[in-house]
Amino acid sequence: MKTDTYDLIIVGGGILGTFHAYHALQKGLCVLQLEKDNFPVGSTVRNFGQVVPSGMAGEWFDYGVRALEIYQSIQKEMDISVRNNGSIYIASDNDEVQVLHELSKHYQTKGYQHELWSKEQVLSKYPVMNVDYVKEAIFFPQELSVEPESMIRQLHIYMQNKFSDYTLKYDTTIVACEDKNDTISVVSSKLEHFEGKKVLICNGYEFKILYRSLFDDSGLEISKLQMMRTKPLAHIHLPGNILTGLTIRRYESFEEYCPSFQTIPMPDHYRELRDNGIHILFKQASDGSIIIGDSHEYAAGNRLDELGFSVNSHINELMIAEANRIMPMKSEWISSSWAGYYSQHKDHILEIDVTPRIHVRTGIGGKGMTASAGYAEQSIEKLF
Ligand SMILES: Cc1cc2nc3c(=O)[nH]c(=O)nc-3n(C[C@H](O)[C@H](O)[C@H](O)COP(=O)(O)OP(=O)(O)OC[C@H]3O[C@@H](n4cnc5c(N)ncnc54)[C@H](O)[C@@H]3O)c2cc1C
Repeated sequence: MKTDTYDLIIVGGGILGTFHAYHALQKGLCVLQLEKDNFPVGSTVRNFGQVVPSGMAGEWFDYGVRALEIYQSIQKEMDISVRNNGSIYIASDNDEVQVLHELSKHYQTKGYQHELWSKEQVLSKYPVMNVDYVKEAIFFPQELSVEPESMIRQLHIYMQNKFSDYTLKYDTTIVACEDKNDTISVVSSKLEHFEGKKVLICNGYEFKILYRSLFDDSGLEISKLQMMRTKPLAHIHLPGNILTGLTIRRYESFEEYCPSFQTIPMPDHYRELRDNGIHILFKQASDGSIIIGDSHEYAAGNRLDELGFSVNSHINELMIAEANRIMPMKSEWISSSWAGYYSQHKDHILEIDVTPRIHVRTGIGGKGMTASAGYAEQSIEKLF
């Protein structure tokens, strides 16, 4: 039964808000989710769609592993674009191989399924890879990928069909929340009023509309990432999430669990890439196009505008050149390029309880497609 006073109102229609809605609905709560745009266009649709717990550390690994189960259980009921083709990290030199072996030891202790692959195994699965680049790899067979642009829309449709207590409204920008002791009144820019017992704000990287001064002092940062997509390439078959040498030198799990991580030298040819926060990942979409990225530039949470709106062609050229070291990649194959943004926090996520009934959860950083489903489950348990 839909009522006029919701148990939970969620501000934000991205992956983090949506999985909070999903878990609240699973608990039998009545949920209203409000998204300012006509459909989500934030971090949740601009990313790779790699669901890679293997790159995460601590509780975030556990949230990612739980997310694998959640995505697959939903996919069994409706196609939300989840594919199980695994993730592979390809080492390009002996130092990266050493780090891979150390990660394998860590995951052996944890009992997380993986395989160390020889150069020959990698080249036999991915004949397009350059023979000189590939040294060895680590493969995680149970990891997933999704098609970000369609996945969130499909997930919203799935939830609307499954839960009668779910209301989703796009094109609704929330400009104020007022805690009136027994209920919260939430107001949109069209002056609509919604009443709820609790409000959860999952606003991604939008910090200028609600609680401006709270976010000013929060320690949030925004990262701008450049991404490219090729035209469909029928001659290339790249199943799964492909992560490469610079990712091995960047992701948290390697940093946290591999003793050599801090001491391996940085080859000269990596320096300009590292200065631009570049590591190369590939994911082939279901239409055969390949998504390639990414780079990182940073600004304070309230200074998004300083990151600019343009795509820097020099950064794209650096990424294409490094991608071409890994497999043949030509500038003329690129059909589009975009900037994506996400917010991040030194505590891995920002959790603020503005009042006992108004809560903020944002700043999940570069791990939201992987960890949101698992994180939101325990977050809802704590809130209710
Ligand atoms: C280029 C790129 C590549 C990435 N690749 C991966 C990857 O492969 N794997 C992975 O795990 N993660 C990846 N990430 C990270 C992941 O995309 C993010 O962590 C995740 O999407 C964050 O979700 P969110 O819901 O917090 O934010 P968002 O998706 O930005 O959603 C927030 C929503 O809130 C809405 N909103 C804000 N304020 C209001 C308001 N006042 N009223 C109403 N609505 C409001 C916004 O319109 C927005 O739709 C990547 C990110 C980028 C940018």
